Amino acid sequence: MKIDFKALRIEGLYNQNEAGQLMMRVKLASGLLSVAQAAVLARLGQEYGSGTLHLSTRGSIEFHDLEFDQLPQIQRRMAAVGLFSRGACGGAVRGISTSTGFGRGFQFTQVLGRKLLLHFSGNPHFEGLPKKFKIAVEADYDGSRHLIQDLAFVYVDQEEGKAFYDVWTGGGLGRAPQAAILYRRRVAESELLPLAESIVRVYRDNVQPPKRLKSLIATRGEDEFRRLLAEELAKAEPVQFSDAFDKALLPVSGDAAALKLVVPTFAGELKAQLLGKLAAAAEAVGVDYLLVTADQNLAMLPADQQCRQQLIAALSEVGFSGLDQPFAVLRVCPGSQECRMGLAATRELAEQFQQRYADKLNGRSLAISGCSNSCAQPQVAELGVLASKSVKGEDGQRTPRFDLYRRTGEALGERVAERLTEAELLAALDAEL
Ligand code: SF4
Repeated sequence: MKIDFKALRIEGLYNQNEAGQLMMRVKLASGLLSVAQAAVLARLGQEYGSGTLHLSTRGSIEFHDLEFDQLPQIQRRMAAVGLFSRGACGGAVRGISTSTGFGRGFQFTQVLGRKLLLHFSGNPHFEGLPKKFKIAVEADYDGSRHLIQDLAFVYVDQEEGKAFYDVWTGGGLGRAPQAAILYRRRVAESELLPLAESIVRVYRDNVQPPKRLKSLIATRGEDEFRRLLAEELAKAEPVQFSDAFDKALLPVSGDAAALKLVVPTFAGELKAQLLGKLAAAAEAVGVDYLLVTADQNLAMLPADQQCRQQLIAALSEVGFSGLDQPFAVLRVCPGSQECRMGLAATRELAEQFQQRYADKLNGRSLAISGCSNSCAQPQVAELGVLASKSVKGEDGQRTPRFDLYRRTGEALGERVAERLTEAELLAALDAEL
């Protein structure tokens, strides 16, 4: 049977290799999953695909090496616990990326992220877009991820249980990285859904495939974008923005910073079997949800210190390490090992970096992307590595060339070297680190 891989994209599936295997991206609401959902994904990961799950920088979970005829069974079992992949790839509003630090504004940003995900996923008015549309809800300006989104809401404060957000739009990475513009400061949350809808409509109606929203601002200017948006907003209907649970879905205690436990993964890789053990350990101590963080780790919030210590002991017993210790932020995309677009074996490179710079990485942030799509977000890491070209040598073998980015201020990182061989890249990093 001939498979229409292009048509599968809207279902969150990409053709991964010549053999026709598939990557499936599960869209999580704000990176959050219950331990019951984690247990189902763990079982599916052991039964199907590579046996290893990939935690993405946008709080999604990816399966690799799936076969087409396995999909109905996988989708059915995910649906039974409220999980889906619709709109995780292709021309759609992608998974909503949300801050996972349990800090200021956490309960507001989580609820908004969930609301946006449910609003846009599978909604035919917002599918068939020229390309992807990425939304983030950030609790603060740390990490500057608001700059790389098509639309970002950054939490400012709250009054009587209603939150306010700064709104940024038109950012994106790829071949021509462009920082988002500030659209408006301190917008009430009740205005955000009509605003998000209007910005997606401006994109849908004024940009040709396969361009992103940023191209509209780059080619026609910010003033014209604002004019188009004002026209669209004039037609928008107000919507109710009530929350039956009054932002109490994910309550955060006062000492969340001391209680939170981050489980580091290397390059976002997690054995499905280990995820199952983690879910069981969490459930045993009364922790009922986990978060996939923007740095490809898992985070949990135990109820108190005793529960936290029990959780650390249980996780150590089943093979997790590095708990409660300082660790480096090392974001890594799947690269050529599992992605058709990949120009470099990013994970092998990451392993090399870990060994070479073992004592220098802690407290630093490094990101490695296998192509200019920049899935590991190298332009918002302290040091970013991007495979920008593949060169054929005299022996007929192809080898990657790398660009190096350095970020010092609050803007996107700047490219400080380009087209480096691997040896030149290591020499450049030796000098930086
Ligand atoms: S950055 Fe490129 S190689 Fe890496 S996962 Fe994204 S598309 Fe694939």
